[in-house]
Amino acid sequence: MDLKEETRKLISLQELDSELYALIQEKDKQKPALIQKLKQESEQEKASLKSFQDKLKETQLKKKQKELDLSSKEEAVRKAQSQLYQLKTNKEYKAKLGEIESLKADVSALEEEVLLVLDEIEAAEKKLAQAKEKVEQKDKELAEKEEKIKGEIKDLQVKIDQLNDKRSLAAKEIDAKSLSIYERLIDTCDGQAIAKVVNGSCNACNMKVTAQKVNEIKMYKDFVFCDMCTRILYLEDDFSL
Ligand SMILES: [Zn+2]
Repeated sequence: MDLKEETRKLISLQELDSELYALIQEKDKQKPALIQKLKQESEQEKASLKSFQDKLKETQLKKKQKELDLSSKEEAVRKAQSQLYQLKTNKEYKAKLGEIESLKADVSALEEEVLLVLDEIEAAEKKLAQAKEKVEQKDKELAEKEEKIKGEIKDLQVKIDQLNDKRSLAAKEIDAKSLSIYERLIDTCDGQAIAKVVNGSCNACNMKVTAQKVNEIKMYKDFVFCDMCTRILYLEDDFSL
């Protein structure tokens, strides 16, 4: 087996695999993450819509309570007024008048409060309507973008299939043992099994490569591996065109 020739084939295979790796990452990670992010944004809008719905409900209950308070105060005024003419003494009469005045003051205060709550309800309804519109917009946007991204994922798969065919052909040309070493590294080294030595360092992890190792590489007797990242090392000069 000509190890230098095998190395050359592995370098070519690595070019295909790097391209393949990037496409697969894009298809399996980046694109789905985009969809995930859009879904999260849509969920956030829905949660905010829910909080506006709750707020409106709470304000409507407040209004109901104020109206109940108001009508019971009005009832108390009527009751006190009807008692007025049954009173015997001037002192009792005056006291009742005072009571009626105080009840009437409560009534006007409550009327004010009801008006304020009505303003609150109006504001809450406005915010709710805006939130609803936003949710609808986000949902529409999500559906459109999701469809677009799914189309892109399909296109990526087509490219991946084509590249895989090309790769299978290239891999067939490589000695089985070399290929199995290479493929094991591809799996453990983030899609890159072979790295060139640049300025005395591994180009993948920047670990220094000793002069002795460089000599070993030049002999092409066995594959030489990076001490740090374990990738197969090669010298670019040996393969320059
Ligand atoms: Zn390395």
